Amino acid sequence: MTVARVPVNICNSQDETCGCQSGVWTASVIILSIGSWVGKVGPRPADDEVAHLISPRERLETVRQVLSEVPLIDGHNDLPWNIRNFVHNQLAEFNFNTDLRQVAPWSKSAWSQTDLVRLREGMVGGQFWAAYVPCDSQHLNAVQLTLEQVDLIKRLIEKYSQNMQFAASSREILEAHGNGKIASLIGVEGGHSLGSSLAVLRTLYQLGVRYLTLTHTCNTPWAKSSSVEDKDEDEGGLTAFGKAVVQEMNRLGMLIDLSHTARATMRDALRTSKAPLIFSHSSAFAICNSSRNVPDDILKQLAANGGLVMVTFYNYFVKCGSQATISDVAEHIYYIRKLIGVDHIGVGGDFDGINKTPRGLEDVSKYPELFAELLRSGEWNVLDLKKVAGLNLLRVLRQVERVRDDMRTAGATPSEEYLQNSPDTIGKCALDINSVQRVMEV
Ligand SMILES: [Zn+2]
Repeated sequence: MTVARVPVNICNSQDETCGCQSGVWTASVIILSIGSWVGKVGPRPADDEVAHLISPRERLETVRQVLSEVPLIDGHNDLPWNIRNFVHNQLAEFNFNTDLRQVAPWSKSAWSQTDLVRLREGMVGGQFWAAYVPCDSQHLNAVQLTLEQVDLIKRLIEKYSQNMQFAASSREILEAHGNGKIASLIGVEGGHSLGSSLAVLRTLYQLGVRYLTLTHTCNTPWAKSSSVEDKDEDEGGLTAFGKAVVQEMNRLGMLIDLSHTARATMRDALRTSKAPLIFSHSSAFAICNSSRNVPDDILKQLAANGGLVMVTFYNYFVKCGSQATISDVAEHIYYIRKLIGVDHIGVGGDFDGINKTPRGLEDVSKYPELFAELLRSGEWNVLDLKKVAGLNLLRVLRQVERVRDDMRTAGATPSEEYLQNSPDTIGKCALDINSVQRVMEV
């Protein structure tokens, strides 16, 4: 293997707004030498060439080449919550650099699909690690527990710095990938983690958090969740304070994640945000009508907004049942591509937050198999693969960063909106987190 510096175009041809008209973005990446490549199966197809590859081996080799050039960025992994559950955040008792299928209690859990051995095998180049705390802690100690999860993720990255590198920008993702490390980003899953406070939101940003999922499975005082029974799901998504949260996220440069939110919240956020939004781990409602998936009309608005849906792998969201296959996941990707185009698709496996995985996509080592499955259709070129792997997420993050910079230039100042009489300010108890055996988090 040789190391070369090559230009990487992180723009999509259809994207006029991503600011890359000035040309090609350059970055350092490591690529396999053409010489060693030719010796195996010949040069990979050109970026714009439809890849008619017959053999599974050719398809996998092409995918591996693509993922060495462009970071595969996954939108959501719940390992940090499992570290809380299994070893109470004691990293001394956790060896990430081993095959956890051989180590109890991980080996006995249906919820464990992640370790460094398999992340490397899966060629994962970027990962949003979820700083998740359960809705049970809302109005209690959610903020403290969230800070502890952010601290855990940072300590994990530090301890395994030979393989992981903290990233908080589009540029830092590419730098980490160029260094051969997993760009490690932090996403907070659930608006309850804010304690209804924009000061907490800003502080989380300063700690490096780069997305907030507006709700988890509970309503917050300012946003409606898809998990709460509601006759009128299409009304009352975000309150005035909820819209202030979205606007402050625009000002900070934080991605707004709509997975888990009610349709009304999705619509209100899409109307309010100046920057593209994401679904970090959701699939297509038209194929599986779970409220965790995205309806067609929202997908169309998402595309108009320049955003991204990161297709998720949980069997119950892929096939609305306990059984699914890697081809079923590909069907969601094909469907979304047909509806809104390849520029708005990514992947968000939700590994370590799910206990039923598709056949062929059992853990983080299997991402190349999914991309090889897309090639099998004979309708995908290499550039399409690159977009779904990471270019789309990089484009969205750069656009979010541009909105932040523009607002700064225009003189936007920190919002001083606050929520009067919020339950977050009158609570008197704390959740004993160690008493929580297992809170379903998918
Ligand atoms: Zn989730």
